[in-house]
Amino acid sequence: MIMAGKKGIIMGMANKFSMAYGIAESLKANGADIIFTAQTEYFKEKIKEIAGTFSANEIFICDVAEDQAIEKTFDEIYTKLGTIDFIVHSIAFSDKNELKGKYLNTSRSNFLNAMNISCYSFTEVCRSAQNIMPNGGSIISLTYYGSEKVVPNYNVMALAKSALECSVRYLANDLGEFGIRVNSISAGPLKTLAASGVGDFSKILEYDRNRSPLKRNITQKDIGDACAFLLSDMASGITGEIIHVDCGCNTIGAKFND
Ligand code: NAD
Repeated sequence: MIMAGKKGIIMGMANKFSMAYGIAESLKANGADIIFTAQTEYFKEKIKEIAGTFSANEIFICDVAEDQAIEKTFDEIYTKLGTIDFIVHSIAFSDKNELKGKYLNTSRSNFLNAMNISCYSFTEVCRSAQNIMPNGGSIISLTYYGSEKVVPNYNVMALAKSALECSVRYLANDLGEFGIRVNSISAGPLKTLAASGVGDFSKILEYDRNRSPLKRNITQKDIGDACAFLLSDMASGITGEIIHVDCGCNTIGAKFND
């Protein structure tokens, strides 16, 4: 129960297959109180029942692409539920037509939109968090190995993740004096709504499974448990890190059955 007595926000649960769902399960199992935000009314309706199973009866709408939406949502949460201890940012977006073929063909509008939603929103989350985390806390985002090396079809999302990872270091530096830790989990591939937009995603899954020292893909629980650790006081000295939770395939780089 490493999260007992802690309350926080999970942003980006679309359904039971989401990274955010696995994270919610681990956080709940470890004693946390969870508040969900959803992109739109449509997503809110879709996750209402699931949120209920986590005793989260109110879901707050927050489209992170809208100006001031994050600050407004956090203010609303503060007014209704008081201060919080953690935030999980599990949000990314790109036009899926540009998650196949060459990066070279990325349009300016999708480049800016992907950066805005997948990277800038995290900066805004961290800035707004200061108001509702007066006693310090821990903030996590989700990233992927495509930020470090070329992964076919990941394209513009790779650039957004590189920028996101860099922002984690700067944000950790800026918020350290307030006792707020900022980290990112670089997760191995998992079949989710967002991931299914990446061209040939099943090949990525297979490739990672084959070269992973653990000889499998990650599960939602792998990510959720790592997240619970990083959000808990057990990780009190860890900030500004990109932690790979990928069954070792990208960290070790060994190749099996290639
Ligand atoms: P998902 O589709 O379940 O979740 C993506 C979420 O982003 C959705 O809930 C969607 O509503 C939200 N979102 C998109 N635009 C938004 C906006 N404007 N405002 C608010 N929310 C918005 O997919 P997922 O794979 O669980 O993705 C969660 C995070 O995990 C993302 O950052 C993703 O890049 C990262 N990640 C995923 C994988 C993978 O293989 N699935 C691997 C590494 C990292």
